[in-house]
Amino acid sequence: MDNTFGMNIIPENDQERIAVLRRYKILDTPPERAFDNVAQLAARIFHVPIALISLVDTEKVFFKANIGMETVKSSDRGSSLCSLAILHPEVTIFEDTLKEPCLLANPLVAGDFGLKFYAGAPLITPDGFMIGTFCIKDKKTRSFSKQDEEILKDLAKIVMDEIELRLSAINETEEQQALNKELSTTITEQVEIRKALQKAEEMLRFSIEAANVGTWYFDIATETFRPSSSLKKLFGYAVDEEMTYQHILAQINEDYRGKVIAAASGTIYKGANYNVEFPATGFHDQKVRWLKAIGKLDHDAAGRLSHFSGVVIEITEQKQDEIRKNDFIAMVSHELKTPLTSLKGYMQLLTGKAKKTDDAFTINALERGNTQITKMTAMINGFLNVSRLEAGKIHLEKLPFRLEQLMRDIVDEVMMTTQSHDIVLLPFPPLMVNADADKIGQVISNFLSNAVKYSPLHSRIEVTACLTGNMVQVSVKDQGMGISSEDTGKLFDRFYRVENRHAQNISGFGIGLYLCAEIVYRHDGQIWVNSETGKGSAFYFSIPNYTIA
Ligand code: ADP
Repeated sequence: MDNTFGMNIIPENDQERIAVLRRYKILDTPPERAFDNVAQLAARIFHVPIALISLVDTEKVFFKANIGMETVKSSDRGSSLCSLAILHPEVTIFEDTLKEPCLLANPLVAGDFGLKFYAGAPLITPDGFMIGTFCIKDKKTRSFSKQDEEILKDLAKIVMDEIELRLSAINETEEQQALNKELSTTITEQVEIRKALQKAEEMLRFSIEAANVGTWYFDIATETFRPSSSLKKLFGYAVDEEMTYQHILAQINEDYRGKVIAAASGTIYKGANYNVEFPATGFHDQKVRWLKAIGKLDHDAAGRLSHFSGVVIEITEQKQDEIRKNDFIAMVSHELKTPLTSLKGYMQLLTGKAKKTDDAFTINALERGNTQITKMTAMINGFLNVSRLEAGKIHLEKLPFRLEQLMRDIVDEVMMTTQSHDIVLLPFPPLMVNADADKIGQVISNFLSNAVKYSPLHSRIEVTACLTGNMVQVSVKDQGMGISSEDTGKLFDRFYRVENRHAQNISGFGIGLYLCAEIVYRHDGQIWVNSETGKGSAFYFSIPNYTIA
């Protein structure tokens, strides 16, 4: 900066002052009527040709309003008299510039312009910074009274107020703009989300329709049932025909109707999962279709249970495959049973003969052979039971009986063939159940043989029962390898076996527990396991306690 004044014109707080000035966002902005008007007013009041509103920046002095200096927008800080006027809060007055030593080198004063008079009142911000001036100039000398000084100060105040107002207007606009921008993006965003959602819904509808998936919606409050067109087709109805829930039930195979109704009410009243498979005969076409229905109870926006909805798919082909496979297993198992029975007979005959001759080696070999035959028979019976069960051919013959007797018999029987473990029947109070004794016995035997299979030699196995609420609970506890929590949930699935190092060498097909579970469910009971890997397992089942009415 070229300083013409021969003295320091930079105040100590100049950096801060500049920062404050820039805060007003006014530098290098076009003229504005409000500022021009005040400048014009000052020119009239003081009868001067020049009135300016100046803002003193680092290098330049910018004129926000300019009356009488033509198109000049700024001048150098080093030569502008306003640079002096911002050094103190009082009005800077030069009545005759030529008498001021510091102005003699000033181009405005010494040059063609011939500036003779200057009076400038600083523009003082509310926090005390002098950012510029309101000043008047003349080419002739003048005297400037105290009153003139006061008027100029007041005008400077008006200008400063205007600058403040201008800033708040700018800020408000900017805020509004930012808000508008934000609002417009959120709105656009919402529109985008809605569009994406609509598209996804449409795609889902297309795929549901294309895949022949039937859907339904049941409003709990109004008990209205709305089936989709595909659902109507699955039940052999025409798309434009009315199909009520009762119509649907009427088409479901009689043997399965109760199960479907129970599952639906379990979902509506208890929130249970709805997942059922059943055959249904088409209303018009009389075609038998196997259907799988999966549904869910849902809440409305207020959290109230509002509707039960879901999907129905046709699984005839898979079911037919399954049925064919089961029929095959049933047939093979059945065919194997006869030769196995005669094989067992021959073995017994031979054992009897060997015992007479005291042939220890043959007796031993035959006994081992016998054990293998027993295992094989059990396996075949298992397969037969699965196929019977799945063909819906397991019929329970329920009769009231005392549980202690059954449990005693089973434990005795297992103990006869198993010396490897310490099997204990813990005492329990007398309990009555109304059940199929053979099937319940099968469940207990299965628990026991598993406990023997999956726990170390000579370890203890405890069998007992008790009454909890209105259920009779039976348990078999071992000190075996245990089962990890990932597996416990799946143990009762068909063909599920735990895959680990220990279990690898133990034969089995993973159907025992599946059968147990099916038997227990058909007795309106529950089956479960508590286990810890490495420590042991406790298998439980419970069935309703029998009370004589
Ligand atoms: P499997 O014929 O394979 O024994 P199950 O259905 O009876 O079939 O049992 C399924 C699986 O559950 C078994 O393969 C075994 O991994 C596990 N399991 C059953 N009982 C026990 C037990 N008492 N201790 C540890 N694991 C067991």
